Amino acid sequence: MVSTADFAGQVAPAELEPVRTLLNSWLIPNDSRQPTDRFDELARASRWRRRDAALVRELRDGLRPAVESGDAGCLNQWIERTGLRPAVDEGGVVYRHESGPAGDYLAAVLAAVAAGTWKRLKACPDCKWVFYDNTRNGSKRWCLMYAGGPDGRACGTIAKVRRYRDRRACELRTSQGSATV
Ligand SMILES: [Zn+2]
Repeated sequence: MVSTADFAGQVAPAELEPVRTLLNSWLIPNDSRQPTDRFDELARASRWRRRDAALVRELRDGLRPAVESGDAGCLNQWIERTGLRPAVDEGGVVYRHESGPAGDYLAAVLAAVAAGTWKRLKACPDCKWVFYDNTRNGSKRWCLMYAGGPDGRACGTIAKVRRYRDRRACELRTSQGSATV
C-alpha cells in the first residue's frame, strides 16, 4: 500500500489530493531515511496500462521540482505534451485530452492553479514529503511541526532544535572567547 497518511491536516482539497498521493509515491520514509520509489505499487493499484503508467511516472518526476521550487512554469510543456484543451462545460472550464491518467492529473493541477490552491502544495525542505498547507496565511514550510503519530517526523521541530543548538554553540564560543580576554 502507498501510505497517504494525513499528518495533522496536511491533506489537499479533494480534487488535488490524488496529485499529492502521486507525488508522495516517491518518498523518504521516516524509518530508513532512504529515498524510495513506490510508483509501481500505485500503478498496480490504479490498474494503469503500462504505457499510461510510464507517462504518469514522468509527469510525477516533472511535477516534483515544480512543487519543490514553487515555479509552475514547467506545466506549459506538460500541457503541450498531453494535448490538454480547455472547454466550457456547464458553466465551468474543463480540460479534454486523450492522454489517459497523466492528462487527468494535469487537468487537476491546472484547476488547482486557477483556484489558487496549487501554490499551497509544498514539499518539506527536509524530508521532501509533499503536504498541503492548510494554514490561513499559507506560511507553513515544514511537513509537520510536531510528531503527530507513528509516521510523524517533526522536521520543523528537528530544524528548530538544530538552530537552537547552533545558536547555543555560538553563544558558548563567544562567552568562552570573552572569558579568555
Ligand atoms: Zn519533513
